[in-house]
Amino acid sequence: MLYERLAQAYEEIESTSGSLEKTKLFSELLNESNPEEIGYIIALTIGRLHPDWMELPELGIAEKVAIQVVSSAGSVSESSVIEVLRFTGDIGLTAESLLKGRGQMSLFPEEVSVIDVFNTLDDVSNASGSGSSREKISKLVGLIANTTPIEAKFILRTITGTLRLGLGSMGILDALSLAFLGNRESRSDIEKAFNVCSDLSQVAVILASEGIEAIRSIKAVVGTPIRMMAAKKLSNSTEILEKAGGTALVEYKYDGERVQVHKNGDKVTLFSRRQEVITYQYPDVVEYVQNFVKADICILEGECIAVDPETGRIRPFQELMRRRRKTGIEAMQEEVPVIVRFFDILHLDGRDVSNEPMLKRRELLESVIETSEKIAPTIGEVTNDPDRLDEIFAASLETGHEGVIAKAVHNESTYQAGSRSWLWIKLKASYKEGLTDSVDLVVVGAMYGRGKRTGVYGTILASAYDPVNDTFPTVCKIGTGFTDEALNEFKERLEGFQLEKMNPKVQSDVKADVWFEPIVVIEVLGDEITVSPVHHAGRGVIEDGGLAIRFPRFTGRWRDDKDPTQATTVSDLVDLFNNQTIRSQDT
Ligand code: ATP
Repeated sequence: MLYERLAQAYEEIESTSGSLEKTKLFSELLNESNPEEIGYIIALTIGRLHPDWMELPELGIAEKVAIQVVSSAGSVSESSVIEVLRFTGDIGLTAESLLKGRGQMSLFPEEVSVIDVFNTLDDVSNASGSGSSREKISKLVGLIANTTPIEAKFILRTITGTLRLGLGSMGILDALSLAFLGNRESRSDIEKAFNVCSDLSQVAVILASEGIEAIRSIKAVVGTPIRMMAAKKLSNSTEILEKAGGTALVEYKYDGERVQVHKNGDKVTLFSRRQEVITYQYPDVVEYVQNFVKADICILEGECIAVDPETGRIRPFQELMRRRRKTGIEAMQEEVPVIVRFFDILHLDGRDVSNEPMLKRRELLESVIETSEKIAPTIGEVTNDPDRLDEIFAASLETGHEGVIAKAVHNESTYQAGSRSWLWIKLKASYKEGLTDSVDLVVVGAMYGRGKRTGVYGTILASAYDPVNDTFPTVCKIGTGFTDEALNEFKERLEGFQLEKMNPKVQSDVKADVWFEPIVVIEVLGDEITVSPVHHAGRGVIEDGGLAIRFPRFTGRWRDDKDPTQATTVSDLVDLFNNQTIRSQDT
């Protein structure tokens, strides 16, 4: 397939507003492609050449570099590019308008296929070492020499991560289902396959070339991360047990970092909940697994928790985050020792056990762990008594933990990769105290500080994530909860993500002084969720406006373990808002 066709489809999808229509257009495009091309099309469309966990170099071309590419390709000065960029706010449109006037760049223009574009971008991402910046620019300029201005527009957006089709991975799964099965009936099977193999391109290729039965038989592979199961929240133990089906395994909820451990003989790989390899952060955990996990081949899930080296007491999550580094890990291991508490097993010695009910998995988990202080299964107990659940909850808090997670134990209580369902229900102290639970929001902009805050940001503009159209609608401006240290850290962390204009995936009526790429996720507490004429989250779902978080404050917790698409979603906020309304009617 020629890239021209993909660019034409992007153009159509972008100018269509309904998500059903967008999906249909993308499915038509997929239908026209060969199975060999489809993986590349998906990769270009999601803007990631390879899944994170493969640890292959990615594009991540900064706006500054993109400006140089457009300047070279269009034979215009960088300052002219910047001027147009300030006006359009979009490097793609900037490229398109400047290249329109350039005439033919290449003497013998070649037709550019989708695979050519992918391969060039892959080459670009692989360039490293001294002179690599020039090499990247020259390869990109060479590619653009053979493309039309419209194609250049989309290439520039793809390499800078600003392609905004409003599709997202859920929309792409819809489109795959429509394209190759003609309807959405087996859409959930396709999503399951994606949750198990964490690779949209692979799912697309298998579906296009082998069909739905092959998709249904995709199994977890040791060494490939499985998208993690998540918990819903409730604040009342009777309700929790009811939702779980009467009886539940009530476990302590530990406050640390979730790890998915893949053991294959002596080789141990640790994945984070955003499917990144984090083995290097926890050499001690690798050693515990090698020594104290008796299975030869297995996939386990657990929580890494920081402990005080003197007293052995649990330390806060912030301490654990000091382990998020690539160097000096030896010293950190001593300063911030960790223990692991395992709560699930998904694969055991060649067998996928994720479809076993919870208590069977728990039994298998207990059978493979040689328990010690460093590594053990989570503390938990099966109960059908709300009072007992409250007692376990109190005991968990007393010993420095966050609360409990009640897990359904009925026959259907399988491990549901990638989903947040009533099979797991969390209860934290804050819900009991009647406060709104924290939300995880994406920083999209900021206002400069005044007075004591001169030189740093005074207010942060934050968004939720909307997976329906892959956007980041704003929900609040945060001006409190910042220590001086946090204010400096905001500046340090965000400066590298600064943009000339608002990112096209961000939806905001609020004008920020500075805009950022939607990448950094923070934890925010608020008093309640209210209807707002200003904020965008939930517009179209909620009557009279969008949703806003009232009195939002930063908790001090950077959610480095979450990628922006794992932030609190618009539908989570709508649920929280509706529950809050029901509760206030009850009282
Ligand atoms: P939170 O901020 O409450 O952790 P979240 O959105 O990050 O919420 P959820 O999936 O909703 O994550 O909550 C479950 C998280 O709690 C898991 O990802 C895991 O890291 C952690 N956890 C701690 N103890 C347990 C346990 N016993 N079983 C399952 N998960 C646990």
